Formats: sequence, structure tokens, C-alpha cells
Amino acid sequence: MDKIRTRFAPSPTGFMHIGNLRTALYSYLFAKKNGGSFILRIEDTDKERYVEGAEDVIYRTLKTSGIKTDEGPREGGAFAPYVQSERQSIGIYKKYAEELIRRGGAYYCFCTKERLEGLTDKNGVRTYDKHCLKLTKEEVEANLKKGMPYVIRQNIPKDTATVYNDLVFGEISVDSNDLEDNILIKSDGMPTYNFANVVDDRLMGITHVLRGVEYLSSTPKYNLMYDAFGWERPTYIHLQLIMKDAARKLSKRYGDANFEDFIKKGYLPHAIINYIALLGWSPKDNVEKMTMEELISNFSVEGLSRSCSIFDENKMRWLNSLYIKEMPPEEFAAAAESFIKESKANGFCHKKIAKLLHTRTEILSDIPGLIDFIAEFYDAGFDTSLFVNQKWKTDGALAKRILESYLDEIAPAEFTEEGLNGFFAALAEKNGLKKGQVLWCVRIAVTGRAATPGGATEMLDLLGFAESGKRIRYAIEKLGAS
Ligand code: GLU
Repeated sequence: MDKIRTRFAPSPTGFMHIGNLRTALYSYLFAKKNGGSFILRIEDTDKERYVEGAEDVIYRTLKTSGIKTDEGPREGGAFAPYVQSERQSIGIYKKYAEELIRRGGAYYCFCTKERLEGLTDKNGVRTYDKHCLKLTKEEVEANLKKGMPYVIRQNIPKDTATVYNDLVFGEISVDSNDLEDNILIKSDGMPTYNFANVVDDRLMGITHVLRGVEYLSSTPKYNLMYDAFGWERPTYIHLQLIMKDAARKLSKRYGDANFEDFIKKGYLPHAIINYIALLGWSPKDNVEKMTMEELISNFSVEGLSRSCSIFDENKMRWLNSLYIKEMPPEEFAAAAESFIKESKANGFCHKKIAKLLHTRTEILSDIPGLIDFIAEFYDAGFDTSLFVNQKWKTDGALAKRILESYLDEIAPAEFTEEGLNGFFAALAEKNGLKKGQVLWCVRIAVTGRAATPGGATEMLDLLGFAESGKRIRYAIEKLGAS
């Protein structure tokens, strides 16, 4: 069997939809699993959709995702160029369109806009009536000579069933009478998706086409073209939709579809990749957390789903938290840095904050929310009822005694994690209390919160000797007033 070749053929729209990224990922996994090549082709023939710099977004996304292209616009390869507008300018599509005309699979159409507007079928849908197919060779040549504007249309044979076997959806059969003679070459000489895609898949030796389910029912048209050219058809693997919920698809408009938005939110690229790999594909043994190498070796077309998958951000969050926990501390600190910087706690030691947050962060953008309170202490309105705790049997009066005793005994030299631990053990003993009671009251006093990332010693260590003392005096003052 020939070497497997798959491709990702995005249109440069300026952002990477999660659904498109999943198509790229599956194409890549399928190729790599089978020792094949993965090709990137840019489909930019629709100039209205073109966005400046869009190719950079595609490259950046594939690179951060760990998807490596074997051939493409920047990598080069035996089938260059890999950008359709460049292929158009060297006449590839025109040459094949003319060849298809010779083979009876396409024809010139000179119909005016006015004539086309008058064509509607019984359901009010405009369908082309093959009018220009009736033109003789001489008439066509005369029209071309006169410089009459034209398009080239596909000649879909009447009354045939077009059948193919999709590896996910099984046998797909469409009545050719339901297919229209679509335009292959527009009046400006540009090919449409329908045509350029077929020609390029063939010329680039693509063996397996993986793409969105929206192309499932138009694939018979493409197959008719392969047949008319006398080319072998590729194998098709259509991928079902990703939905936000039962009623709506993921959409850039709602901020739930763009890969780079998730990166900005603090998802790790591989967590996103790992999650979207599972959206529409079930690995045999139900493992969920996989490296790229594991995704490649586990990938199988049999696991692809025919039904829509629902994008569950909470699940992606959970996977992300697993990857965060696995990061070496320095790597986490580096990833967390910009989020700590934008938090209100920017003035405190970033290294210590990162250490506190490492096991408590699910996605990096949680960080400001987890630590802002550290800086908001004096503005938050101290709630002294937090000192009342049934488990520890503490109340305001006991807290006041503990805090005053803290101030009497503490010295700057105690301010290491070990030093503080010993200090609190001694302070508890001296006052005939449990260490937990002391720690509870001190932590509340310096943070004003019942729940904090890190215990009393960690909070004190972060705040430092002077600031901790200041906060404890502040808490005593509040207790006095209550
Ligand atoms: N350019 C098409 C798109 O972005 C590619 C579809 C295909 O993979 O054939 O939807």
C-alpha cells in the first residue's frame, strides 16, 4: 500500500476554531499512527474571507499544539507551492479545468446574472439548468474569442446514484439529480473550493481526507470529478460536529471556539490538544490523559464517533489541572508570572506565590482571583466572626489572647518556614492550647479569610515579619471594637 498522506487545508480566516484544530489533530494523528505524512495547504482562493497575517495564526497554533507538518508553505516539499493562490497564479487550476472540459466533466457557462436570477426550481431554489451545456464547440469558441465573461461549471450526470463509503458514516448515497452543476472556476479565473480542493488533493497525493461533516453530502460531487478525470478517489473520514450544548455549535462570537482565547485564559496547549482529541474519539481502553506520542499510538478511526460531541470546559479544566500539577516548579512559576503580575498581589514575592498556587491552580487565569485578597486586606472590611470556630473551639476573646501573645513573642529570626513551625508549637504550649487553634487565629488575622491558599506559616512567610505584625495589630484593634 502507498504511504498514507493526509492534509490540513484551512482557509486563512485569522483565528483557529477548535473544530478546525481537531481536524488538523486527527489528520496528524492518523498520518503519524500509520507512518505517513501530514501536509499543510492554505486554501485562500476566497479573497473575501482572507485576513492579513492569518497564515501566522495557523503556523503559531500548530507549533504550540505540537502538530508537526511534513510539507507546507514554509517547510516546502515535492508538491510546492502549498498555497492555493500561488498555485492559481501558475495556471494549475485552469489547466485541469480545461482537461475536465475535454473529458466532458465540465463546461463553459456564459449565462448573464439576469438570466441566472430568473432560474428557480419548484421549491423556489435557484438551480442551474445546464443551459450552456447545449452550446456547440464552435459557439463556445466564438464566445471566448469575443471575450465574453464566463465561468466553468461541473457537468453532473443526470439520474445516477453516487455512492461512496465514509470510514465513519458508512455508505453515503446521493441521487445525482439532487446535485447542482456548481461553479469550478469563477469569472475572475479563481477556482472555487469545490474544484481547487479536488485538484490539490489529487496532485498532492492525498490518500485520506479528514474534514468536517459539513462536507459529507457534497463529497459525491467531488467523487464525480475524480471519476471524470479517471483518478482514483481518496478515502474519506468525516468528523462530526462539536457542540456547546444540544442547541448550539461552538462559536467564536461566544468566545468558546478560538484556540488562542483558551491560551489567554491560561490553558496549557497540550491540555487543550488532549481534551479535543477526546471530543469525538474514544480511545479503546478509556484512558484520558495522554501525551502526543500516546495520542498517536492509540489513535484509531474505529473510535471516531458519528454523534456530536459536547464541549465541556470543566473537563478541559480538570485535565489542565493535572498537567499543571505535573509541571516542574520553575516551569509553573514562569507560566504563572504574567498572571501574578496582573493580580493585585503583584507587590508580594512572586516565587512564594507561585509555590503556594502550584497545586491549587486549575487554569492560569484563576490566579488573580486566588491571590487578590492578599492585597485587599485593609479594604475588605475585617469580619471578626471568622475567629469563631467550633472545630477549634476558638472565639474572639481567645483570638485576641493568641494574637497578643504572638506579638509579645515573635522575632524576625523566626521568619522561615521551619522557624515559624517551631515558634507556633511553643506558643501553643505556653498558652495551654492546641497548635491548630493558634494557627487558625493567626491565619484569619493576617488574611481576613476563612479559606486561603496555604496555611498560617505560608501566609506569614509571604507577608514578611513587618507586614504580618501590622496586620495582627489591625486584627486586635478590630477585635477590641467588636
Ligand atoms: N478550506 C476548507 C475549510 O477550511 C477545507 C475543507 C477540507 O478539509 O476539505 O473548511
